Amino acid sequence: MPSYTAPVKDMQFVLHDVLKVTEQDIPGYDELEADFTSAILEEAGKISSEVLQPLNVVGDKEGCVLENGVVRTPTGFKEAFEQMKEGGWTALDCDPEYGGQGMPYIMGTAVGEMMVSANMAFNMYQGLTHGAYSAIHAHGTDAQKATYLPKMVSCEWTGTMNLTEPHCGTDLGLMRTKAAPQDDGSYKITGQKIFISAGEHDMADNIIHLVLAKIEGGPEGIKGVSLFIVPKFLVNDDNSVGARNGVSVGSIEEKMGIHGNSTCVMNYDEATGYLLGTEHKGMRAMFTMMNEARMGVGLQGYAQAAVAYENAVIYANDRLQGRAVTGAENPDGPADPLIVHPDIRRNLMDQKSFVEGARAFTFWGAHLIDRHVRGGDEAADGLISLLTPVIKGFQTDKGFEYAVAAQQVYGGHGYIEEWGMSQFARDARIAMIYEGANGVQALDLVGRKLAQDGGKHVMAFFDLVKSFIKDNGGNEEFDKAFLEPLKAASKDLQAAGMYFMQNGMKNPNHALAGSYDFMHMFGHVCLGLMWAKMGKAAMDALEGGASDTAFYETKIATGKYYMARQLPATGMHLARIESGADTVMALDAANF
Ligand SMILES: Cc1cc2nc3c(=O)[nH]c(=O)nc-3n(C[C@H](O)[C@H](O)[C@H](O)COP(=O)(O)OP(=O)(O)OC[C@H]3O[C@@H](n4cnc5c(N)ncnc54)[C@H](O)[C@@H]3O)c2cc1C
Repeated sequence: MPSYTAPVKDMQFVLHDVLKVTEQDIPGYDELEADFTSAILEEAGKISSEVLQPLNVVGDKEGCVLENGVVRTPTGFKEAFEQMKEGGWTALDCDPEYGGQGMPYIMGTAVGEMMVSANMAFNMYQGLTHGAYSAIHAHGTDAQKATYLPKMVSCEWTGTMNLTEPHCGTDLGLMRTKAAPQDDGSYKITGQKIFISAGEHDMADNIIHLVLAKIEGGPEGIKGVSLFIVPKFLVNDDNSVGARNGVSVGSIEEKMGIHGNSTCVMNYDEATGYLLGTEHKGMRAMFTMMNEARMGVGLQGYAQAAVAYENAVIYANDRLQGRAVTGAENPDGPADPLIVHPDIRRNLMDQKSFVEGARAFTFWGAHLIDRHVRGGDEAADGLISLLTPVIKGFQTDKGFEYAVAAQQVYGGHGYIEEWGMSQFARDARIAMIYEGANGVQALDLVGRKLAQDGGKHVMAFFDLVKSFIKDNGGNEEFDKAFLEPLKAASKDLQAAGMYFMQNGMKNPNHALAGSYDFMHMFGHVCLGLMWAKMGKAAMDALEGGASDTAFYETKIATGKYYMARQLPATGMHLARIESGADTVMALDAANF
């Protein structure tokens, strides 16, 4: 069976050596002293390893069961959810006005990675609640906030997001769910939603559904979509749980992975709903939730790769097969461990350098969100808005790729269920699809985010890379191993942007045929920047006399690997982009 040990030291390295959180001028960051963050991460690591991880396989094997309109979660989930609530883990970065602990989002992100690595399906119940909490917090009236938020912060009530319908997933303008205005200001919601994660379960006293629907008589298409709060049980004036609302679960899906999370068909039959935000501006309100959810899904991608990698390393050290080509390394044993073989090492280095790079990228993204939300920095908001589809799309594609790569280390033992490696790959797969399939993330990046505010945010990103290179040059080893590859990759990315500008206007297919490559290219440059920052931080630590030389030397070696072996992928992506749309669009639909 797989195990999980939380990477506390690696997280501390990103927080303190790389991002230097306590030196940042962001309200609340001054409290993030190393001792404090270490205590939180150690505790979160403990509950993740000891409580959540052992339930991962249980959830996978048992799945959720629908009985008499109620979904039963797998054995042990309910008790573990209670422990999460009692430990205050659901309230970590929530507003103290509603019972939260008020910690920065970056701490919620670090703890979130651990819990997702330990048990992704389980963590989704809380993750979706957090997303719904954020949407109500940002767009709700004072009365709505007072009614729902305290119970959602504590996870006594959980949340969901209801967008998808049988005939519309990406194209939400086709939505059919209707909202009929009532005299008392509420609405009657009628329609069917499918694939609703955590739509029904037995771990909370109430479930607060955020539902997109069209108000009768409103504008056509996406401009006529509004967002509603639809509780499973209506809430009485004293905030106690009242009568059952007209919402029910029709069925639950059988699926490839995340079996421990209930994926529900939800039927709304004149259910009472309350408008959240402004009429017909539902997508704006939902985007608060979706942007957070996209960051969270990007985190799921690398968190699954992280736990799969951790187990693959253990296996590669234990399993004896073949001899090292340069001479036996375990001469007293019947064979050498797998880890002596260069191809196993290539595989593990690919995984390691991605996981640690993605962790730094995601923490940096969370830091940008804190910079905006806590510090009012609009430039940080522009940057994270640009990078969100990259975090979601690139990291979930690669997360799945490396969960499969970790499976490969086990040979046939990775394919059978006994070792648990197949679950990591199966669970990681959904992250490429929900919250906007990755093709749509690429579309968002190239079709919308690149040109947003006159291209100001992408220019800010390039300036950031440029100034990092300029400010940190002069050390021959660092220049050659880190800065030169970063400069070359960043040039590739700029050339791709230039190609889109010159050709996309004439024929938008030239831009969109290259959008997926662009998203991956952007991801590589971001991880290249992260590795350059981590390499610099590790060199500084060694120069400053840090005692744990092996830790920092390992960081530098892993960074050099990423720069030498992964970052050159930008050249291939650029070549594909510059070949344009002609070969992509050459066939008639009938010839596929
Ligand atoms: C396990 C699971 C959990 C989920 N949880 C939730 C949830 O909690 N709430 C919720 O509302 N939904 C949820 N979903 C739904 C999920 O978000 C959608 O499946 C997803 O957004 C894609 O929609 P679709 O399946 O209708 O695919 P479609 O929209 O039909 O897309 C099919 C393919 O076409 C591509 N595509 C579509 N349009 C374009 C375009 N214009 N250009 C290029 N490519 C395009 C897409 O990238 C995709 O690859 C969940 C789904 C699953 C399987």
